[in-house]
Amino acid sequence: MNNIIFVNIDTQVDFIESKGKLPVPHAEAIKPELKKLTEIAEKNNIKVINTCDWHNDNSAELSNEPDYINTFPEHCMKDTEGAKFIDETNPKHPFIIDYDSNVLIEDAIQHRNIIIRKDKFDVFAGNPHSDSLFERFQEHIFIVYGVAENVCVNFAVKGLLSRGKEVYIVQEATKALPNIESTVESWKENGARMINLNDVETIITSYIQQNILGGTDLVNYNGDILKRDLT
Ligand SMILES: [Zn+2]
Repeated sequence: MNNIIFVNIDTQVDFIESKGKLPVPHAEAIKPELKKLTEIAEKNNIKVINTCDWHNDNSAELSNEPDYINTFPEHCMKDTEGAKFIDETNPKHPFIIDYDSNVLIEDAIQHRNIIIRKDKFDVFAGNPHSDSLFERFQEHIFIVYGVAENVCVNFAVKGLLSRGKEVYIVQEATKALPNIESTVESWKENGARMINLNDVETIITSYIQQNILGGTDLVNYNGDILKRDLT
């Protein structure tokens, strides 16, 4: 295992598929990129933290008169088809962390695929175990993708940045809701970096080389230092 964690945000049927209950416009278009990231993770034995909207009739963000900013119509109801991950990202043999049950984080981190179910936009607010899970990964970089860029991805990115994490967002593998302002500029201002799929492979290759050679910075195609080696 290496020091890279993928964070797959809410790539569920109701959000991605046009037939879903709350589809992010044009989200089906990023399926090939999502599939590629899933394959890269499997091939390189990279841990994936998969967040998952998992609502019930009492969920605060659900409304019959939604404003599509703070409240939304019914979606990703627990145990329904719409709450499943799409085929392109479906986590193999996952450890599931529910928000209303006790789990041992020690058990969770033994698995390559971890699912965090959440009842809020924000993974850190929507599951009491999120903080202790992410805390376990102190020397890691987080590569984030999924939907919707300006809602749940935004909460995850900001939550990671505020906890001092190093965050990269795969811009080809995320989609925003059209009626809410883009969050990309504020991410960059707070130290996150937008990358593409090629950069992901470069980062992984650099990490492997770094582990073999030691003492090298992690750089991207442009020669920008992505992670400074402090040894
Ligand atoms: Zn939701």
